Amino acid sequence: MIEKILCDIHGSKEMSFACIHIAEAIDAKNPVGFFYSEAEEDLPQIAWCNSCEQYLLDNGEEWTDQFQALADFKMLCSDCFDEAKSIELEIHLR
Ligand SMILES: [Zn+2]
Ligand SMILES: [Zn+2]
Repeated sequence: MIEKILCDIHGSKEMSFACIHIAEAIDAKNPVGFFYSEAEEDLPQIAWCNSCEQYLLDNGEEWTDQFQALADFKMLCSDCFDEAKSIELEIHLR
């Protein structure tokens, strides 16, 4: 089961993660690209942007510590996650 978190705006929702670039794009309403993988059992859904995807492609698609430092994943509630998704023009499921 996915853990719940308490969002200031949406209340108690499932935990999700997005890279810092997407997290910042929510307020700026500035599309940065949206790649994501769906929630699985106890793994929350997680999203990353075009530049993070490019980094992954250039570096053997491995989720190294270096990549995670670059992406600087932020915790979001599932509604904030959907909001981020809705401002993006291109959505890719990975
Ligand atoms: Zn990113
Ligand atoms: Zn929220």
